[in-house]
Amino acid sequence: MSQYDVIIVGAGPGGIFAAYELMRLAPRLKVAVFEAGAPLAERKCPIDGKKIKSCIKCKTCAIMSGFGGAGAFFDGKYNITNDFGGTLYEYIGREKATELMEYVDRINVENGGQDTKMYSTAGTRFKKLCMQNKLKLLDASVRHLGTDINYVVLENLYRKLKDQVEFRFHYHVDGIKACEGGYEVRRGDAVDVCRECIVSVGRSGSKWMENICRELSIPTRSNRVDLGVRVELPAEIFSHLTSELYESKIVYRTEKFEDLVRTFCMNPYGSVVNENTNGIVTVNGHSYEDPAKQTANTNFALLVSKHFSEPFKDSNGYGESIARLSNMLGGGVMVQRFGDLIRGRRSTRARIDEGFVVPTLAAEPGDLSLVLPKRILDGIIEMIYALDTIAPGTANDDTLLYGVEVKFYNMEVELNSRLETRHRGLYVIGDGSGVTHSLSHASASGVCVAREIAED
Ligand SMILES: Cc1cc2nc3c(=O)[nH]c(=O)nc-3n(C[C@H](O)[C@H](O)[C@H](O)COP(=O)(O)OP(=O)(O)OC[C@H]3O[C@@H](n4cnc5c(N)ncnc54)[C@H](O)[C@@H]3O)c2cc1C
Repeated sequence: MSQYDVIIVGAGPGGIFAAYELMRLAPRLKVAVFEAGAPLAERKCPIDGKKIKSCIKCKTCAIMSGFGGAGAFFDGKYNITNDFGGTLYEYIGREKATELMEYVDRINVENGGQDTKMYSTAGTRFKKLCMQNKLKLLDASVRHLGTDINYVVLENLYRKLKDQVEFRFHYHVDGIKACEGGYEVRRGDAVDVCRECIVSVGRSGSKWMENICRELSIPTRSNRVDLGVRVELPAEIFSHLTSELYESKIVYRTEKFEDLVRTFCMNPYGSVVNENTNGIVTVNGHSYEDPAKQTANTNFALLVSKHFSEPFKDSNGYGESIARLSNMLGGGVMVQRFGDLIRGRRSTRARIDEGFVVPTLAAEPGDLSLVLPKRILDGIIEMIYALDTIAPGTANDDTLLYGVEVKFYNMEVELNSRLETRHRGLYVIGDGSGVTHSLSHASASGVCVAREIAED
């Protein structure tokens, strides 16, 4: 049994930035980080496109787990905004949330991101263009580290942390129990004790987090689920937007149902990829900063939010069922040409091969209308036509739609303005808290808690 001042569970952006700030502000504290996954250099997904073509459902997913957390190999878009990416501002105020996100950006820049670009919607002409076409462009500044530089930044942060903070990898924490003067953190029969515990287990730790909240009687609230598709088209079609803004977060209110559909995670010159969440294969996207690794396509998600509360509360369960259905029909992720979708027919390999958009992910041609609920699909189709007004060519027949894309959110853990649970000294940060769902918000929440602890 070891005794620590602070144990951090999870080495995603939330955990890393909490450790970084503790190291900086309170170097005398004995801090440990327990991580279920591998160190950065050992994180390797077995899919090689040759022998192993699709997800084999490893016990600990190398894409979602390990030093760097869920986003380590993907794109590293740090959005500085309170308009999306989480509701941290509801706990700590807008000004402080922005200040912390800017601080995180400075640390990233100091640790390898110095040559990357910060894009901004401030003063852009696209706001007006969007408004004129029933679309709303959300305000944000975004630093695109890119998959490659994101990796370098993580390597540098680890190098700085490793001598002052104890890291245990391949160390899945089983439970946390309150004890006199702090908390017992347990894995099997091994128990470590700490005065303060920061839980930062992200999306992959969602079920685990639910159990911990139940055991420690911490109230939770159900969250929403976002469902939709990933759109892939020639990069030229969106180049006027992506070269100025990099990522444009655009919202559209559908005429038919008045639902909100939004763009999410835009990857200029990027690739579409598989994502595995608890054994369910969904779709995602990323891109590299290095031009040599870029493709001729841009991809982004179109998502509709659903939040169930009464009597059915399990928004994530709903999303999971739809993703499972798509996995059942397509054996994984499915792809369809927009022209085939609106003509009510399944895409075939031949039609996709004849098309002008070369897919960057080998997905099974299929029919998304057999998977996505009509209301969601109608909203997505309406939005594609709306986007066509500001980026002509979006609604071309050859535009590819991959499905399904699902953004699961953890249930919201009851926290105070210090991101502390009703148990003094037990904090929940990052995506595991349900409060954040982005790199910058998760990282900022880590800095926030570390500063509270250092001040104490
Ligand atoms: C493919 C992909 C691309 C993304 N791209 C972007 C992007 O460009 N911009 C953006 O803002 N966001 C992006 N995101 C979202 C972003 O990665 C997350 O919001 C962010 O990683 C959340 O950080 P976190 O520290 O809260 O959790 P995570 O990054 O999920 O880290 C949690 C860590 O906790 C560990 N863990 C879980 N349970 C336990 C346990 N019981 N014991 C020990 N360890 C445990 C996990 O192994 C994991 O490493 C992306 C996500 C994915 C999947």
